[in-house]
Amino acid sequence: MESKQKIITALSIIFALFFISMVVSTTINFRNYGLSTAEGKASLTAEIVKIGLTSHMVNGTMDHRDYFLDKIGKVEKISELWVARSPTVIKQYGEGHNNEIPRDKIDAEVLQSGVTKSVTTETPSKSLMRVTIPFTASEFGTPNCMQCHQAKEGEVLGVVSMVMDITEIRMSSIRSVLYNMGLTILAAIFVFIIMNRFVRPYVSIFYSIKDVMQRAYRGDYSGRVKCVNNTDNESVAKLLNTMLEKLQHTFEELDKKVYVFIKNKNYVKETDPLKNINSTIERLSDIYKFKQTIENDKELEDIYNRIAYVLKHHFLLDDFTMTEIDTMNKIKKIVHSEKGAHCSILNGECRAERIQSSVDSSIFTKSCALYEMDDNEHICTPYTISNDLTLILTIVTTNEEQTKYVRSIMSDVEDYITTARPAIVSKKLMQTLNQMARIDQLTGMYNRKFLDEFADVSVPQAIRANTSYGILMVDIDYFKMINDTYGHDVGDEAIRVISGVIKKQIRKADIAIRYGGEEFLVLLYNCEQEKIIQIAEAIRVEFGKQKISANGETFSKTLSVGCSRFPQDSDSIWKCIKFADISLYAAKEGGRNKVIAFNESMIENKEVGESY
Ligand code: GH3
Ligand code: MG
Ligand code: MG
Repeated sequence: MESKQKIITALSIIFALFFISMVVSTTINFRNYGLSTAEGKASLTAEIVKIGLTSHMVNGTMDHRDYFLDKIGKVEKISELWVARSPTVIKQYGEGHNNEIPRDKIDAEVLQSGVTKSVTTETPSKSLMRVTIPFTASEFGTPNCMQCHQAKEGEVLGVVSMVMDITEIRMSSIRSVLYNMGLTILAAIFVFIIMNRFVRPYVSIFYSIKDVMQRAYRGDYSGRVKCVNNTDNESVAKLLNTMLEKLQHTFEELDKKVYVFIKNKNYVKETDPLKNINSTIERLSDIYKFKQTIENDKELEDIYNRIAYVLKHHFLLDDFTMTEIDTMNKIKKIVHSEKGAHCSILNGECRAERIQSSVDSSIFTKSCALYEMDDNEHICTPYTISNDLTLILTIVTTNEEQTKYVRSIMSDVEDYITTARPAIVSKKLMQTLNQMARIDQLTGMYNRKFLDEFADVSVPQAIRANTSYGILMVDIDYFKMINDTYGHDVGDEAIRVISGVIKKQIRKADIAIRYGGEEFLVLLYNCEQEKIIQIAEAIRVEFGKQKISANGETFSKTLSVGCSRFPQDSDSIWKCIKFADISLYAAKEGGRNKVIAFNESMIENKEVGESY
């Protein structure tokens, strides 16, 4: 029930109860007053009758009492009047000429008890009161009853009974009650009008506040309290409206300010700005913590692992793969895979990378030819990390519900990857710089710095894995002459030519290092002696066939190669390199344009080999 109705109902009930109790009490009071007035009148009349009859008795005119009784009986409102004698008086004086014996039970009862009795009889049209009053014998009164009556003290000598018409009294009571009722109703209407005028503004502001607060509870702070002209209400409404305005403005501003920090603008906003602010701050806080953590990560691998951790534990993905595509160097690398790639991305063109947009197999079946599973769906999304680097995230889903969920979180995932982007770029740059520091700019081969690291890191691993290396030390014969004859640039060109020849003759697993000016070290992976010599020969022969251009003419050069084997010749790679160098020296000594393999006899002075 509405509050206004409640107030009206409560007031109506209170008024009705008040009205009923007032009518009842007024009616009872008036009735009692009427009856007691009638009784008083009857007593007075009875006293007069008693005095009159006594006077008749004293004056000896008792026989003429009829006239007196008749006159009294005709007094207004007295319908009937009679006298009844007690058995004692009847015995002494007889029944009297008017047959003054008790007429009814009430007469007999009062004669017996000596107590006045009144009985009221009411019909719709008339109200009658019957009153019977006793005459009691007393020798102490004036006159002394015992002078004439043979009776005991206190004995009832007779009764005066009369019937009085009290209809008028009843009517006047009813009139008074009706009059009071009318006045009360008028007063109530007046009170209602006044109350309504007084209460209405409060009720209406109450409803307005209720409405505005309900809207605010739902997150809509745009509601304002309406008020009808009332000073008290106006100030309350003003206070509340000012507070609501401040809240609305603050929340909207906060929401806008916090919202700009989220890169993903697609997430469903709540209508309650407080909820939005809360969820945005939570998201920001998570992303901030993630950002701080990856900033302290040392390796690029750590960052990728961190992203994988978020995907697994925060987004609850259980089957995904991250592939790094270096577009400049055309290198693809799977940097993390939770359950295998399910995709031949390393051997083919990634569709998501090519179209630079998500590929979702649930939207179009078989959208990517590289994907190898039929019973699952995949969503592949490319994230541009830098101009040359793209990260492809492949998420595999097993049912529609999962697919929907993945679609819903993709923008959040993007927030994380975008946050990680600067850290990935800087780590990648560091990687490139490190790589460049290990690459010789003229030939694109590794340099001595790389060899130092390789010897420290990879060689111990190679020993553990029983890997062997054939070592070639290659040097152009009489290179100095090129510089001297054609100039330094032609010398550089000859270096480029020999590096091209070496690269062509070796396999992917082999390593070519520019060891010095025109001196190259080649590490041949798991190579037999025979094969080592074969490759060295191939390099020598091939280089001899090369025509090097210089100032409009061409010339050819030869080279010499010294060979050794690691770990067959020594378990120290540096010693083996030295042995190859010794062999090269032997080749030079032997007339150049030769391949010479190392043998123990070459180390005449053992100290040289050991001290190296
Ligand atoms: P040998 O047959 O004994 O090896 O004779 P060589 O003339 O080749 O002798 P050596 O190995 O001592 O000569 C190396 C020369 O290569 C010396 C140096 O000036 C030159 N050189 C070193 N680095 C470069 C370079 O990057 N470019 C050019 N053009 N010359 C270089
Ligand atoms: Mg040389
Ligand atoms: Mg040299």
